[in-house]
Amino acid sequence: MPAKKVCIVGSGNWGMAIAKVIGENVVANGKFQHSVPMYVYEELIDGKKLTEIINTDHENVKYLPGHRIPDNIVADPDLLHVVENADVIVFVTPHQFVYSICKTLKGKVKKSAICVSLIKGLDMHEGNLDLISNIVRRDLEIPCAVLMGANIAGEVASGLFCEATIGCDDAVLGNLLKDLFHRPYFRVAVVQDEDTVELCGALKNIVGVGAGIVDGLGCGGNTKAAVIRLGLLEIVQFCNTFFKKARTETFLESCGFADLVTTCYCGRNRKVAEAFVLSAGQKTIEELEEELLNGQKLQGPPTAAEVYKFLKGKNMLHDFPLFTCIHEICIGKMKPGDFIECLKNHS
Ligand code: NAD
Ligand code: 13P
Ligand code: CA
Repeated sequence: MPAKKVCIVGSGNWGMAIAKVIGENVVANGKFQHSVPMYVYEELIDGKKLTEIINTDHENVKYLPGHRIPDNIVADPDLLHVVENADVIVFVTPHQFVYSICKTLKGKVKKSAICVSLIKGLDMHEGNLDLISNIVRRDLEIPCAVLMGANIAGEVASGLFCEATIGCDDAVLGNLLKDLFHRPYFRVAVVQDEDTVELCGALKNIVGVGAGIVDGLGCGGNTKAAVIRLGLLEIVQFCNTFFKKARTETFLESCGFADLVTTCYCGRNRKVAEAFVLSAGQKTIEELEEELLNGQKLQGPPTAAEVYKFLKGKNMLHDFPLFTCIHEICIGKMKPGDFIECLKNHS
């Protein structure tokens, strides 16, 4: 079999860390071509193009500073050029940009290509809640698996051990993707429950915001544990109510419980939500995102907004009090302190 061409669409904090994993793996495994093009949304850093900095210094100084990525990762600002003839397309942009990227790629990818989405988010589309993988499947007309897990980007780039979950209902495809991602420090399990894997990745970001709220309120470990427990309850309930029945074991994979834990302790959603509470109404989440993240994007608040819209349309906000309260705090409709009442009254 000829070696498969892999490309990466996205080059943010996680995009760069996973590029390191992929860049190492394609060389270690004979199934893939060694050169991996990566789509980089072009910007100037001190007057120099980011793509040129990456291709010369092998470091993304803005989104993952301090980590060298392999020389076989080739930054390119031309999206269509990156996906040309690709057999495997790795999607790893913030979910806010998926629609426009897919629109550009419509009809432009190889018909036999496969896709894997590492994007954690959800989107309302024509009154329905769309998985990001569904946007890809619909627009590009190719299969799309997902990879989610407890994977704080900087830690992965440092080679600190972690686990991840590939969700792929097609076992053959799942195993090919495992070859692309599995490393000694990045342990990948494949489960045939792709919707649940993706939903876990998206919904835990809302709970991460909740963890930041209780941190900002000065609560302790026990309160945060309650947020994690109730968050997990709502994630399970959400999956089973609106999507095909989840395998319970999937919630115990890295994409489920483990990602929830690391996000609630180490994630950006937690950090910005804590700062939001500490600013005592002086700053919005968007202002703090800009101030604290240097161009990186939060997925929790926009996902909470999409889920809220969806639940409101179904008259089911009261069935998901934690998700609901977190969104209302983000938009200033409720006070951060009200979150404790929400936890106290949660059934
Ligand atoms: P990020 O938060 O670093 O976002 C910045 C990226 O967005 C940059 O590459 C920037 O160039 C790009 N961008 C800005 N404007 C754009 C535009 N108009 N069009 C296209 N791109 C634009 O991104 P990330 O951390 O790589 O996250 C990507 C996905 O991976 C998210 O869904 C996130 O939840 C998920 N994820 C992140 C981590 C992590 O630790 N960072 C871990 C696991 C999963
Ligand atoms: P944050 O976006 O909150 O940093 O979470 C990162 C993540 O998804 C870790 O798995
Ligand atoms: Ca939308």
